[in-house]
Amino acid sequence: MNILVINAGSSSLKYQLIDMTTETARAKGNVERIGLEGSVLKHQYNGGDKVEIQEDVQDHLAAFKLVIRAITDPEYGVISDISEISAIGHRMVNGGERFIDPVLLTDEIIETMKAEVIEFAPLHNPGAIMGMEACRKLMPDTPMVVVVDTEFFKTLPDYAYMYGLPYDVYEQYKIRRYGAHGTSHKYVSLRAAEIMGKAPKDLKLITCHLGNGSSISAVKYGKAIDTSMGFTPLEGLIMGTRSGDLDPAIVTYLMEKKSMSPAEMNDYLNKESGILGVSGVSSDLRDVEDAANAGNKRAQLAINMLCYRAKKYIGSYMAALDGVDAIIFTAGIGENNATVRKCICDGLDNMGIKLDETKNKVRGKEAFINADDSRTKIIVVPTNEELMIARETKAIVGA
Ligand code: ADP
Repeated sequence: MNILVINAGSSSLKYQLIDMTTETARAKGNVERIGLEGSVLKHQYNGGDKVEIQEDVQDHLAAFKLVIRAITDPEYGVISDISEISAIGHRMVNGGERFIDPVLLTDEIIETMKAEVIEFAPLHNPGAIMGMEACRKLMPDTPMVVVVDTEFFKTLPDYAYMYGLPYDVYEQYKIRRYGAHGTSHKYVSLRAAEIMGKAPKDLKLITCHLGNGSSISAVKYGKAIDTSMGFTPLEGLIMGTRSGDLDPAIVTYLMEKKSMSPAEMNDYLNKESGILGVSGVSSDLRDVEDAANAGNKRAQLAINMLCYRAKKYIGSYMAALDGVDAIIFTAGIGENNATVRKCICDGLDNMGIKLDETKNKVRGKEAFINADDSRTKIIVVPTNEELMIARETKAIVGA
């Protein structure tokens, strides 16, 4: 059984064709710059061979046609006909309180999404919906499922997802914590349990998704009970270009001082702040580390801030969970950056968290990196959101 996973944004369409018998990707890639000059499809097949197709791609329908052409191409395709695709799984970032569980896609559902959920992820949802429409147009008889990233956080208790604002803004505008990266937190928490040889229902886990966007979640007995991202992905850790937590009074203060509109302030906090804003170097931690190693103090400060705040979240989630069995690191930084993992875990010996510096040298693969006498396991688990979406899609289509 092959499942095609689609992750469409405003100007990009990522895909992965997954063979569910082996749970491996037969092909994957990305159509970049949809509707812009210089659009290109980057396609990977046979576990590593690559091809790039430069072509004018006007819209999501053209992008999806190009994807189908690539995966069925006689030379670099992996199937001979679209009938070999049993189902399509679509990623959606946030469906508010209206769409939470994976749902079988119909035209009616697309219409409801257009009317009711765009505002919960204005940058992502319109692209995702265009991706769904394109797939339905081209493959109307193939079952499709929408998997919403925030599904994993539906188990948060109300005292964790509510903000200390007048209750009516929750009722009227649905302002609450939704979290983000849920599919990743779900995948790594399940996978960590598997490699620990335990059932999720017996474990208390803290999952750290540290990438361009970063979030930390507390997972108690298989259910998320808290997460650092909030109403939007701006809350929580210091990220590549996002500020993360700050005193909300700063927002209105700065808007007055710098005469910024709400849209400008939104961009300032989402695109100009975080690691980039503090370091003045880059949003990519590799560049920031190079600068810090060359003596740039602000670059070092940005790294210290990232680690310190992650440490504080881990501490607070240990309190929320009443202890922790394992801390899991994933995503670009979590999987690859030993220095950051060490910096986060340093000084937590008394809380039962002890890293082994030799084991910590690992990059991009599953590994236990805790010292033998550490009460808490520390595990690197590369994330696989596409596989998680494919599994959920298979479950719905199968049912
Ligand atoms: P996104 O959130 O956009 O998916 P990633 O999860 O790839 O991003 O995370 C990007 C961050 O991860 C960057 O700060 C980058 O420095 C870091 N990163 C990604 N790959 C590596 C690598 N191979 N080695 C070290 N750092 C990496």
